[in-house]
Amino acid sequence: MKVQGPRNHPARALAVLLGLAVIACGGGKPQQPLATPVGAVDDARLRAAADEPANWLTHGGGYAEQRYSRLDRVNAENVARLGLAWSFDTGTRRGLEATPIIVDGMLYTTGSWSKVYALDARTGSLRWTWNPEVAASVGALACCDVVNRGVAVYGGRVYVGVLDGRLAALDAATGELVWEVQTTDPERPYTITGAPRVVKGKVIIGNGGAEYGVRGYVSAYDARSGKLAWRFYTVPGDPAHRFESPALERAAETWKGGEWWKVGGGGTVWDSLAYDPELDLLYVGTGNGSPWNKFVRSPGGGDNLYLASILALRPDSGELVWHFQTTPGDAFDYTATQHMILADLEIDGAIRKVLMQAPKNGFFYVLDRETGEFLSGDAYVEVTWAKGLDPQTGRPIPNPEADYRRESRTIYPSTLGGHNWQPMSFNPKTGLVYIPAQEIPAVFGMDPDWRYRPGEWNTAVDMTLTVELPRELVSGHLLAWDPRKRREAWRVEHASAWNGGTLTTAGNLVFQGTSSGRFAAYRADSGMPLWDSPAGTGVIAAPVTYAIGGIQYVAIMAGWGGAFALVGGDAGASLGVGRGGQLLVFRLDGTAALPDPPPPRPTRPADEAPLRVDASNEMIALGEALFSKNCMVCHGAGAVAPGVLPDLRHSTREVHENFAVIVLQGAREGQAMPSFAGRLTAAEVSAVQAYILDLAAQEFAPLSK
Ligand code: CA
Repeated sequence: MKVQGPRNHPARALAVLLGLAVIACGGGKPQQPLATPVGAVDDARLRAAADEPANWLTHGGGYAEQRYSRLDRVNAENVARLGLAWSFDTGTRRGLEATPIIVDGMLYTTGSWSKVYALDARTGSLRWTWNPEVAASVGALACCDVVNRGVAVYGGRVYVGVLDGRLAALDAATGELVWEVQTTDPERPYTITGAPRVVKGKVIIGNGGAEYGVRGYVSAYDARSGKLAWRFYTVPGDPAHRFESPALERAAETWKGGEWWKVGGGGTVWDSLAYDPELDLLYVGTGNGSPWNKFVRSPGGGDNLYLASILALRPDSGELVWHFQTTPGDAFDYTATQHMILADLEIDGAIRKVLMQAPKNGFFYVLDRETGEFLSGDAYVEVTWAKGLDPQTGRPIPNPEADYRRESRTIYPSTLGGHNWQPMSFNPKTGLVYIPAQEIPAVFGMDPDWRYRPGEWNTAVDMTLTVELPRELVSGHLLAWDPRKRREAWRVEHASAWNGGTLTTAGNLVFQGTSSGRFAAYRADSGMPLWDSPAGTGVIAAPVTYAIGGIQYVAIMAGWGGAFALVGGDAGASLGVGRGGQLLVFRLDGTAALPDPPPPRPTRPADEAPLRVDASNEMIALGEALFSKNCMVCHGAGAVAPGVLPDLRHSTREVHENFAVIVLQGAREGQAMPSFAGRLTAAEVSAVQAYILDLAAQEFAPLSK
């Protein structure tokens, strides 16, 4: 089965060339009236979303992204009665990361490969679905699974960012395509996984790809027409050309030596956005440097603005008002794209308008969101890359032990962060922030053979070092953090890392799913466990809550996947893996049953001896190096990505006999395994196969005959 790839769409390519953003879509209904009854969300409703707890109108539950609901019909006294009301099968085993949007009885969500689903929020019956038909080859450019974090609903339309860089507007009633626009250069390895937000009639969308070599930016499109309104680049381009903004002229002074623009520079805006309507400031979290290795990217030093930063922009123009950089001169993939929460907190006797973030680098920040002033920052997990933060400026105090130029170093947190994209939540009643926190170290070392290779993994860090991490060093917990007392209030230890985002409610509850396949509720004030249910699979997404006809529902996308599940290898093995991805919706006294799991994947029969490895140690070592750069990001460290992709150590004889055909000729593109022709030679593919067979022989030695 061959999927029509958007990259080959001649009309789109032409429009990109001509600077024409909008594609007229065959079968779509361009320019239909905005104010249809279905999905009739306007600016006033978005600004006051917290006043409509029966709905979940925008990604973070409101522009402040607190993920707090005033609903209390389900509460600490009765949550033990929670049961499944209905479920919906997305038919995928890849990661589910979406936050559903609920508008007036309809639930809009996304699955893997940017597919959109509209369901009756009370019954779960499917109203419509939209498949953007992303080409399998795009999957090889998605560092962290072919995931999507959800839609925005506005003016009768549903907006979704598509993995291949498109932004699409669908009719909220029918799912018909109204317009779509290519927001990225299809020749560069950009992907979109984040949820759009709509601010004052503009759809705000960023993108990812900094592991492969791209330049980050955030764009605003007119919600009605799809026309580009503005674009803010987060890092300077080639200094030989004019910089796009005064903000980038200032930023360019902080990049020294190197030719970062050839790789891209990074700073991608792949997830977090928030908005303060009173201050009229749009907050944008930016990602890591590209390549990760700053000694290659900017060998003369410098902070490399605006990497790993929080930016405050004017939503009408994209003009930069202030910035705060969490990790100057980032060398560790320390994105500040993590979820940002806006709240008003009493600090030193005064009410301050704050922005809170727990970025990957392990410090919990409280900023004044009007000015960007640093108010406090404290380690919320183990931190070894810095010795602490300057109490006045928040600037990290470097730890010389973290310099990995001469020898490799074990660093906390890892590239997966003390906290990743999994949203945290804030409860104004308890004053606590609920963080899906984790302890994972990473080993950093120079990749001595690195040179920029277009479209490939371009971190300039030796990825083979990660394989050797012992599983015992990896853990995860639900962390209740007090942002005023600047310390932990309580924690719940989980079975492993990479647990789900959180939701907190006026019912004194915190909800969270876990990597071990549970969905649970805790007392928000104390962390006391109150309820839990099997989820059938590891959970990474964040739950939402809504009400219809006086009944409160709690909904969660349950589908194991994402970066850690893919790359984490043995340490990423999830106890809850087994079922495909489901939307699970709970209510008090619900009695529905979890659906049956799908049939297991074909694996090598236990009595079938693995193919013999007839390869030199040098060839196997070459295969390991090639695997770590080309395959590991999806197939996992040690070729283990259990539950998400097939465990390559279990590959059947049929797979091995067709190995080169699969890897170089795209024989399994229909199952989303892209062709690596042009990236790997036949000899290199043989080396990769030798490495996998060697792993299989080690793992299953007792079975060999
Ligand atoms: Ca990254």
